[in-house]
Amino acid sequence: MSEIKKTPVDALIVGAGYAGVVMAERLSSQLGWKCVIVEQRDHIAGNAYDYIDDAGVLIHKYGPHYFRSNSQRIVDYLSDFTEWSPVDYQIKSYTRGKYWNFPINLNTFEQIVEREATSDEFEAWLEEQREDIPEPRNSEEVITSQVGKELYEMFFKGYTIKQWKKDPRELDKSVCGRIPIRLNRDDNYLREKFQALPSKGYTAMFKNMLDSVPDVEVLLGKSYKDTVEEYTFKKLIYTGPVDAYFKQCFGPLPYRSLRFEQESYSGEALKEREKISGKKGFWQPAMQVNYPDEKVPFTRIVEVKHATGQDVEATTIVKEYPEDFEVTGEPYYPVPMKESQEIYKKYKELADQEENVSFIGRLGTYKYYNMDQVVGMTLTEFEKIQNEYNR
Ligand code: FAD
Ligand code: UDP
Repeated sequence: MSEIKKTPVDALIVGAGYAGVVMAERLSSQLGWKCVIVEQRDHIAGNAYDYIDDAGVLIHKYGPHYFRSNSQRIVDYLSDFTEWSPVDYQIKSYTRGKYWNFPINLNTFEQIVEREATSDEFEAWLEEQREDIPEPRNSEEVITSQVGKELYEMFFKGYTIKQWKKDPRELDKSVCGRIPIRLNRDDNYLREKFQALPSKGYTAMFKNMLDSVPDVEVLLGKSYKDTVEEYTFKKLIYTGPVDAYFKQCFGPLPYRSLRFEQESYSGEALKEREKISGKKGFWQPAMQVNYPDEKVPFTRIVEVKHATGQDVEATTIVKEYPEDFEVTGEPYYPVPMKESQEIYKKYKELADQEENVSFIGRLGTYKYYNMDQVVGMTLTEFEKIQNEYNR
């Protein structure tokens, strides 16, 4: 039988999201490595992928992606490939028949008491509401220890049960703990000091990264399994799900998935909605509205045009429905809870023993990481490889 001739490359990279593309850019620009990226989807940019839809509106295909970071090193690195448009990420929560300021802050308190109030009054009120839990252990306690049961049930309980199909008591405190709670009037959804969107979108930024290096080939619509036998390589960079790499030998890691439904509006239909949004050209009053009520089947509606500032008459909204991973096959979220960490630990031990393979990214390390954290992790892993091969 004739042997299939294999193509030699320096690195075979699985996945064209942040982890895969940042690593390819570094290996090629700094070490002169020839890299091949295999990506099973038909586009680059992973879950950060954005595109212009049929209505002419720039949308985020896989849910809203708000870039934020406290790390100058990460912002500086990405700034070589994009300019930024600063954004004030403002959202609302819709429950009890109205829009509430969210995350919880003094403005929310004023809506609750239906009069003007001060931070001191809010603090005194919270003091009465708070549960005495010095060291919160889970996602319910992290909220009730700050604002008490009533606000927890109003804004967090139903949303979290829908999103994760778990009781918040089963989830790590970092899940709901991501959401700030403030005594002042700061309505910003996020905490990080740098908050901006790539001026021409994420996909354009990824394209610039790839165009900046000579020796990176991207194969779209190809999976790791289909291509691994075609190459020889000194390093494999694997950014897919770590349990899939090891053929789920310790059982499947739990993932939570989503289904996205898009609706575009223009003309008369949009004019009708402007009465609710209060803004010309917009369907809803903020870029994101969360729906914490359990009986509403979606968790949020995103109208990212608020953040992109795109000058276009039409608008598109995206409704986000939580879904089982088994239904969609898309592992959007690792599930931060004790049981899944115990399974992951076993895969991590195997991953650490694997020679010449780097497991990185949200799926490769089973971590609920934001984009900037994945860039940071990838730059650090690149430095390790650089030290290894420069010796
Ligand atoms: P991914 O972007 O998932 O890329 C991995 C790629 O590998 C995918 O394209 C996948 O198709 C490919 N792949 C997997 N297995 C294989 C295989 N076997 N063969 C070939 N290809 C394979 N972060 C923020 O900072 N701000 C936000 O506002 C934000 N919002 C989010 C909203 C949602 C709904 C989701 C799901 C995530 C959000 N994130 C946000 C997180 C952000 O998407 C991730 O941090 C980031 O995209 C992770 O990059 P990655 O390269 O690790 O993984
Ligand atoms: N959350 C909630 N109510 C909200 C917003 C968030 O209960 O109105 C909880 C929910 O469990 C969610 C988590 O906080 O999964 C983190 O929210 P975030 O908006 O950061 O989620 P992501 O954008 O990562 O999906």
